[in-house]
Parts: sequence; C-alpha cells; structure tokens
Amino acid sequence: MNENPFRLLPAVAIVLEHPQLVAVRGDYAHETIATAVRAEIDALRQKIVVGETIANDVDALVSRVIARLAEDNRSTIRTVINATGIVLHTNLGRSPMAESAALAAYEAARGYLNLELDLGTGKRSSRQDNVRDGLCRITGAESATCVNNCAAATVIVLRTLAMGKEVIVSRGQLIEIGGSFRIPDIMTVSGASLREVGTTNITRIGDYAAAIGPNTGAIMRIHTSNFRVRGFTKTVGIEALVELGRKQNIAVIDDVGSGAVVDFAKYGLDGEPPITEGIRAGADVALFSGDKLLGGPQVGIIAGKKSWIERIERDPMMRALRLDKMTLAALEATLRLYRDPVVALREIPTLRMLTMPLHELRTRAEAFAERLRSVSALSSVEVHDNIAYVGGGSLPDESLPTVVVAVTAHHHSESAMATRLRTATPAVVGRVQDACVLFDLRTVFDRQLDDLFTAICRAADAQILV
Ligand SMILES: *Cc1c(COP(=O)(O)O)cnc(C)c1O
Repeated sequence: MNENPFRLLPAVAIVLEHPQLVAVRGDYAHETIATAVRAEIDALRQKIVVGETIANDVDALVSRVIARLAEDNRSTIRTVINATGIVLHTNLGRSPMAESAALAAYEAARGYLNLELDLGTGKRSSRQDNVRDGLCRITGAESATCVNNCAAATVIVLRTLAMGKEVIVSRGQLIEIGGSFRIPDIMTVSGASLREVGTTNITRIGDYAAAIGPNTGAIMRIHTSNFRVRGFTKTVGIEALVELGRKQNIAVIDDVGSGAVVDFAKYGLDGEPPITEGIRAGADVALFSGDKLLGGPQVGIIAGKKSWIERIERDPMMRALRLDKMTLAALEATLRLYRDPVVALREIPTLRMLTMPLHELRTRAEAFAERLRSVSALSSVEVHDNIAYVGGGSLPDESLPTVVVAVTAHHHSESAMATRLRTATPAVVGRVQDACVLFDLRTVFDRQLDDLFTAICRAADAQILV
C-alpha cells in the first residue's frame, strides 16, 4: 500500500454517471447532486488526510450521496407525535385543528376563493364578513373581528380605545404571556400608558375607582391564564368593573385569553372563564385566542360593541395584522362546528382530548401497553395513573387526571430513549419521569398509534416483527 491513497478517490464526473444517481436526476437538480457527490468525496479525502485507509467502493459512496440528498431534502417542519398529554403545547403548534378546518385551509391554499368578493352582487366585500356571524354566535357579541393572535388583538384594541390615555389594570394581572411579551410592553407599543392599581394579591373595586381621572382611557381585566395567586387574594369580577365603567363612562376591556366556549367545569377543568361572561356582563370588547380552548387556527378574536369593532377595523394597523385566506377558511370551518355542541366535542381535537373520559384513556393505554409487552428490547411496560396538563405555557393549573404508559428499555437510558424518539421520523415527544419514558395517549391520534409503536421499537433497538 505505498500507492498514493488520494488516487483512490473517484472523479466527480464518473460518480455522477452511476446508474443510481442517473435514476434520481428527475428528483434533484444537477447542481444539487454534484454538490452532494463533492461533499462525500471531500469526506473521504479528510479521512485520508488523518491517516485512515479508505476502500475503493463507489457503490457505498453513492449510497451515502443518496442518503445525503434525502436528508438535505427533508423539511425542517415535521410531524410530531405528541405523547406528552399536554393538549395545548405551544412549542408543538398549540391546537390541532378539526379535519374540516384543516381541509378548508388546504382548499383555500391551493386555489382561489371568494375571500373579499360578494358572489351575489359581484362587489368587493370584507374578508372579516366570512367569520363575523360565527364569532357573534359563540360570543354573544353584537359584532366581532379577528387578527393574527391575541397579542395583536390586545395591541389594536388598546390603540383604538386608549391611545395616549391611561389603562387601569390590577397589579395582580400584569402577566407575561410568553415570548417575553408582557402586558406593560404591549401598552407601550400600543401608545397607551399603564395605570397599575392594587397589590399582587389584593385589588378592590375602590382601587379602580380611585385611579379614574380625566386621562383614563379604559379599564382592563386580564385573565391570569398562565399562573395563579393562591391564599389571601381578592380580585374584582367583570360585572363590577363594567358597572364602574358605565357610571364613569369608561370602556372596559376583557382579555379572556384562552376562550372557553364549552363549559369545561363539567369535565373537571375549573377556572377558565367562558368567553360569553364578559360580553354578557356588558364589557365593551373581549379578546381571546383561536388556538387555545376554541381549538381552531392561530387568531386573536375581538368581540364586542359594534361601534368599537368598526373603529378597530378602520385602524390602519388592521391591515398589518389581518388574517390570511387559509387561516380564515379554517376559522370559518371551526366556528361552523360549534353550531352543534355535540359535533364540536366530537370533531374538534382539542375539545375531544380535554374531555376524554378516564376509562377511555385507560382502555387505550392498556391496549397499547399490551402491544409493547411483546417487544423484548423493552425491560418494563406499565400503565400508571398520572396528571396531564392542559397547556405547557398557558393554563398551568388545569391539571387533569390521566393514564400513561411507562416504558424502560434494556439498552438505553430513559433520556437516551427520549432523544432517539425525538429525532425519529415521525418525531415522538413523550415525558421523562422516574427513570421511565411516559406516553400519554390523550394527545395521540388513533391514526398515529402504529407509527408510535414502530418508533418505540426502533428507539429501543427492537427487531420489528411484521
Ligand atoms: C395566551 C394569552 C394571550 C396571548 O395570546 P396569543 O394568541 O398567544 O397571542 C393574551 N392574553 C391572555 C390572557 C392569554 O392567556
């Protein structure tokens, strides 16, 4: 072996004529294939430089080129099987949408639609008209509109109702809503100024009343959806704020946050104010997210008095915050499902997952565990009672009794298993607890169970018996 080892490296032009690479010419641009070939030859060259011996094996080189092409071509956004049991997981895209909503977005995406055209008159219409009635129906409001998310809704509402003025907020409600977006910062970007009243745990109606002055623009209640203050606490309800606002002729804003349409208290989820509460009490506007408890696409919904909604829609900022056609189509389809509460609970995954009875969770977990027990690479498979959380960053207190499948593997630690699952295709995210990987099937769709099974087998290095 005193021959120059670099002479073993094949020429790029020769590799490109390999039948397997000729066969993928229809799938990748010539330059993409050539770049991948060069990269693999360079990798071999590096091995020679550090003194390794290399084989003259063009077939193996071509296989690596094909693998590299496939890897480069994978989308960075991938399907994740959410086995955490966290129904509204912001990092995993929050609410999955109903099938009809997803299809509506798909149809909207791939063609044309009457987004801003009244098909009856042939005249231009407002894109918001497509969802206004549906939004009024679920909120009980006179009118409604929507923007990209609830943070955007807060900004445009504050601009319209209180620009250059003070907004009175209880100190206990000055939340950060995630992504470093804090209520005081939102006030600043909206051109309103914050007037804090009360203390962290106690705010009384008198605190609000005392803060009202000639420069008061609005009173705002913010639902503390991502934390709770417990113990010696007092907050003022929306009815009392509305009454105060009415007496003093000051607008009242209700930031409901999560937007519960269904009465979740019936299913053991207390503490989420229904979206109708503030409107019914007479709040001027109420705001909430579309991709939390509503179970729809990411939008910020603004419902309330017609005169305010009209002013909000005339704000030039509305143009910067407006929804795209796919989101609007998905929202309209989601709202349609709410016409029948039974249909909504069945078809909207977020509602179905949150209200799934414990016995059903247990049956699904037992059946899945039974399949896993035949996998010899797993050292234990158990079904446990556990606690699920509604939301990762939001709704922290909304814990639900749930059932999990707890797994350990012979060859890999629980954290190694978690990593292997996360980097699989499709990716799987579970929970690690007490030296086990936990799978909560509450958030796993039936259509994903086979893929989840395969992913666990692969992560544990099991032979998959077909
Ligand atoms: C979640 C939440 C927001 C932010 O909503 P996005 O749709 O995520 O922008 C605002 N206010 C409250 C009270 C919330 O819970």
